[in-house]
Amino acid sequence: MTDQAQTGERVYKGIPASAGICQGKAFVLHRTQSPIPRREVAEADLPQEIHRFEQALLLTRQQILEVQRKVSQALNAQEASIFDAHLLVLEDPTLIDSVTSMILSRKINVEAAFQEFTDKYTATLSAIDDAYLRERATDMRDVSSRLMNNLMGRHENTDLQHLSQPCIVITEDLSPSESALLDHKLVLGFVTEAGSKTSHTAIMARSLQIPAIVGLKDASTKIKSGTHLLLDGYNGSLIVNPTDQSLFEYGQLIRRHASIEEKLQSIQSLPAITLCGKTITLSANIEQTSDIAAVKSFGADGVGLFRTEYLYINRDSMPTEEEQFLAYHSVAAALKPAPVIIRTLDLGGDKFMSHLQIPQEMNPFLGWRAIRFCLEEREVFRAQLRAILRASAERNVKIMYPMISSYSEIEKANAFVEEYKCELRSENLPFDENIEVGAMIEIPSAAVAADSLAKRVKFFSIGTNDLIQYSLAVDRLNERIAQLYEPTHPAVLRLIKSTTDAAQRHGIWCGVCGEMAGDPLLTPLLLGLGVTELSIAAPLLPQVKFLIRRLKMDDACELAAFALQCESGREILERSHALARRIAPSLFENDTP
Ligand code: PEP
Ligand code: MG
Repeated sequence: MTDQAQTGERVYKGIPASAGICQGKAFVLHRTQSPIPRREVAEADLPQEIHRFEQALLLTRQQILEVQRKVSQALNAQEASIFDAHLLVLEDPTLIDSVTSMILSRKINVEAAFQEFTDKYTATLSAIDDAYLRERATDMRDVSSRLMNNLMGRHENTDLQHLSQPCIVITEDLSPSESALLDHKLVLGFVTEAGSKTSHTAIMARSLQIPAIVGLKDASTKIKSGTHLLLDGYNGSLIVNPTDQSLFEYGQLIRRHASIEEKLQSIQSLPAITLCGKTITLSANIEQTSDIAAVKSFGADGVGLFRTEYLYINRDSMPTEEEQFLAYHSVAAALKPAPVIIRTLDLGGDKFMSHLQIPQEMNPFLGWRAIRFCLEEREVFRAQLRAILRASAERNVKIMYPMISSYSEIEKANAFVEEYKCELRSENLPFDENIEVGAMIEIPSAAVAADSLAKRVKFFSIGTNDLIQYSLAVDRLNERIAQLYEPTHPAVLRLIKSTTDAAQRHGIWCGVCGEMAGDPLLTPLLLGLGVTELSIAAPLLPQVKFLIRRLKMDDACELAAFALQCESGREILERSHALARRIAPSLFENDTP
């Protein structure tokens, strides 16, 4: 590469995932693990291989003891005791004997022998349906990756939590649990090679208000740490070594956005009411209790989706009922009388718990997740439902089940709710006897058979993120097929209409809590299709409200009628954009610098 190419301005395009503009130095987080070497070892060198193994065991032990010491200082002895299990793995005679004898009998290097042993061992343990053994498999995985790093002289992945200077993070991918821990004083923005607008990492970035671009191919190889970057999260542009001219133009764009923000702020406390007088409920999606402040400051009518998964990840044990109760109660108490809809655990897909190893599945999004998991893992479900019920004593809590595919799941889950209500009554613990229960409509079967679900719940909330991926068979995380992920596809819109119609027939309300609800360009379409509540990341609420306050329902209904007989998703999108831009031009005038 020439000096000019290294230092001159370059512009890369990705998928805009979280609005905002930032500039700073790149911090490129490389994760690709080098492959495990495999080689034959001469007879004379075998003792040296055994010695390397012993040294690695020793070093790993010292490291674990050090981590244990730090954890017991920072947390408590109980949390630190989980490392006892890791130390036991290192002393396991089966491990030591098997690896040693593989090295000697097959004359192979220690890395290859160790890898073979741990793969076989963890696969066997994970396949057994026993929570204790599955945990041992997790211990084994943790310890073995540490030991392998020591054998190969690899450093552990640089931990995003130990950044010392503000930067823009560039990486192949970020998991939802990593994004939940981002320190937004230091992470000014981030760019990932993988991902899409509806990945949970992108969702988290929007709620943390960190500008982000996803799906930017080869970003971590194209960009070097320390390079000056300008990240435009509105349009998905990453400018490397921006010229003075680009900095000037972006400065102007920032000022124009600031003036829109001012306009939006002035309507923050006003209701979301159309020009013809129809009131729309605008709720917030939250992931953590710390989001309460944003719910209040952006003027939400309540919480339409509390994604409880984040209470379960980034930790080594399940949250107890008490811990969950405190979290749910703090949100309910802070926001009452505004409603708080708590979604039961939607584990799976791209959200995994750090400590609970779910057997690997070929198709995790179609697998053992969400309500399917909860209905089988009774103790997990019990702790959560009891915690939600106890928080409902504040009278503003509702329960929502994710990934409902048929009415029988609602009946089973409702039976558990009734059972735990009985328990709480006998324990004299207060709760809301009339707590409302709703279902997410995010699987096509639920949308098509919405009548049978509507009889059994008090509300629907359409999860368009999943509904789109399941109805179009387009993985919501796969950037290679992002262009096929089409919210305005006629089939998706007909499923939404089938859901709102069923809700209307049964006298219940129907909202949308997927990311489609936060796109003001699509607001008229959703309202025209009969949706009466929109639940979105709190920072996106003002722009959607701004648009609603300029909309006439006649226009929205006309657009929806057009969409329901149109064959082309693109044409529907164009019409939707045209209507939104006509009624609220100032919202969209700044899309590019
Ligand atoms: C959805 O699928 O639209 C939704 C809101 O749920 P999640 O994004 O958490 O899967
Ligand atoms: Mg979903």
